[in-house]
Amino acid sequence: MAKIKVKTPLVEMDGDEMTRIIWAMIKDKLILPYLDIDLKYYDLGVTKRDQTDDKITTDAGNAIKQYGVGVKCATITPDKERITEYKLKKAWPSPNGQIRSILDGTVFRKPILVKNIAPAVRNWKKPIMIGRHAYGDIYKASELVVDKPGKVEMVYTPQDGAEQRVTVHEFKGPGVVMGMHNTDKSIRSFAKACINYALSEKVELWFSAKDTISKKYDAHFRALFAEEVAARQSEFDKAGVKYRYLLIDDAVAQIMKHEGGIMWAVKNYDGDVMSDMVAAGFGSLGMMTSVLVSPDGKFEYEAAHGTVKRHYYEHLKGNATSTNSVASIFAWTGAIKKRGELDNTPDVTAFGDRIEKAVISCIESGIVTKDLVPLMDPRPAKHQTTEEFIDAVALKLKQSEPVHA
Ligand code: NAP
Ligand code: MG
Repeated sequence: MAKIKVKTPLVEMDGDEMTRIIWAMIKDKLILPYLDIDLKYYDLGVTKRDQTDDKITTDAGNAIKQYGVGVKCATITPDKERITEYKLKKAWPSPNGQIRSILDGTVFRKPILVKNIAPAVRNWKKPIMIGRHAYGDIYKASELVVDKPGKVEMVYTPQDGAEQRVTVHEFKGPGVVMGMHNTDKSIRSFAKACINYALSEKVELWFSAKDTISKKYDAHFRALFAEEVAARQSEFDKAGVKYRYLLIDDAVAQIMKHEGGIMWAVKNYDGDVMSDMVAAGFGSLGMMTSVLVSPDGKFEYEAAHGTVKRHYYEHLKGNATSTNSVASIFAWTGAIKKRGELDNTPDVTAFGDRIEKAVISCIESGIVTKDLVPLMDPRPAKHQTTEEFIDAVALKLKQSEPVHA
C-alpha cells in the first residue's frame, strides 16, 4: 500500500521516561508505516531542554504557531530531586505552562470511552470535556491575615482619573481577606478557545459561574463570554451547536443526570476541582486525552498523565511493564485528524479514525494493560505488557487496511 500523504507538517514534541519509550513505539509501529508526513521534531526531553537552556521549548511553541497543529509527549517538570537525578543547571519551568503562554491557550480534557468500562456515573454515555480557565482568580490572589480590629478597603488608582475605594470589611476582631483579579483579555481568549473547541467537536457549550452572588466579578465573565458567543453566532447555527449559561451549582447537578457529549467551560478554581472529579468518574488517567487550543485556532494534543516514572524505573531494571499507551496514541490520532481537517485531506482524517478503531476494538475484546483490568466488565484473565498492547493495536490496524480493487 502506498503511504497516505500529509500536506502540511506536524509539530512533534518528544518527552521523558516511560512515555518517551511508548512514544517511539507508537511512531514506529502505528504512524510511520502508513503516513508520508513531515514531522517537525523537537526533543523536549529534560536533558535537551537543559542543554539548550530551554530554548527548544520556545522553538516548539513557535512552531505550533507556524504550522497550526502539534503532538506532545509527557515531560518532566523538574523539582529539586530531578535537578540531582538529571544533573540539571536549574529547575526549568513546566514546558506545558510555557507552551500554554506562547499560544495563550486553554486546556481541554477528553476521556476515551469503551463499552466494557462503565463510568462511575451511570448516566454518562459520551465524553464530558472540561475547559478550565487557566489564569487568575485565587491562583493569583493577594491575601492578608487580619489579626486585630480594623477596616480593609480595596483601592483602585487609575493611571488617569479619580481613585475608587470599596470597603471589603470592617473587622471587629481577627480574620482573613483576599483580593483577586482577572483581565478582559484573558477571559475573552478563554471564551474564544472554548468556542473553537466546541465548534471543532460539534458539541453543546456550557459556561457556568455564580453571577447571582458575584454580581460584578462573575457577571463580568458571563457577559464577556456571551459577547464572544454572539460574535460567532452564525458558526454556531451552521454547526448546529448550542450555547447555555448555567449557574455553577445548577451545572453540577445537571452534569450528574446528563449523558455527556458536552463541553463545559468553567472558571479556574471550578476547573481545578471539576476536572479531577470528571476524570475519576470516567475511570483511568491512561484513558484521558488533553488538547491545548489557542484563541486563533492552533491545537496541541497530548495525554493528560505524566511520564509514569514508577513504570520507567521498572523498565530500567529490565522488568516487564504494562503501561497504558491509549492516551498517547489518541494524542497522535487527535493531531492527525485535525491536520486532515485543516488541510482538507479526508484520507488523513480517516486514517486517524482507523487507528482509534483499532485501539477500541482491542480493549473491547479484552486486550488491555494492567491499569484497566479492575475497571472492566467482564474482567479479562490476563493483561498485556506495554509493547504487547501496541503490537496488538498494530496488528488490528494492519488488518483494517482498506482493500482496493
Ligand atoms: P504520572 O506519570 O501521571 O503517573 C502517576 C501514576 O498514575 C503512575 O505511577 C501509575 O500508577 C498511574 N498512571 C499514569 N499514567 C498511566 C498510564 N499511562 N498507564 C498506567 N498507569 C498510569 O505522574 P508521576 O509519575 O507522579 O509524574 C512523573 C512526571 O510526570 C513528573 O516529573 C511530572 O513533572 C510529570 N508530569 C508531566 C505532565 C505532562 O507533561 N503533561 C503531566 C503530569 C505530570 P501505578 O504506579 O499505580 O501503576
Ligand atoms: Mg485539581
